[in-house]
Amino acid sequence: MLYEYHLKTEREGFYNITSYVRQALIESRVTSGLAVVFCPHTTAGITINENADPDVVTDLLYALDKTYPDRPQFRHAEGNSAAHLKSSCIGASETVIIEDGRLLLGTWQGIYFTEFDGPRTRTFYVKIIKG
Ligand code: ZN
Repeated sequence: MLYEYHLKTEREGFYNITSYVRQALIESRVTSGLAVVFCPHTTAGITINENADPDVVTDLLYALDKTYPDRPQFRHAEGNSAAHLKSSCIGASETVIIEDGRLLLGTWQGIYFTEFDGPRTRTFYVKIIKG
């Protein structure tokens, strides 16, 4: 079962999309298998990280900016190579195991859509695979 979602984003940010994935799982009625969360954009991504302290994702955004700053040597005419770099660093998807009808996420884990070149209306997909 494939589920498609849309998200309005700010310039940069981590958006907790765990509830969307849980909703897709409930609708699918799958109790054992895999959930694949996929981002079809080149300046955004999907990652799993802490869901309790919002300072964690703020620190991640800060560190990504320090690690991948915009550089005058970048050639990409659109001017957003730093966002492309961050997207590749974070990755375009995450896979979560489904067992007993629930996602096997750790207590402190949340699934995040990461925006590096907003504001935009973004899309992400959740594929629930029975198995
Ligand atoms: Zn670009």
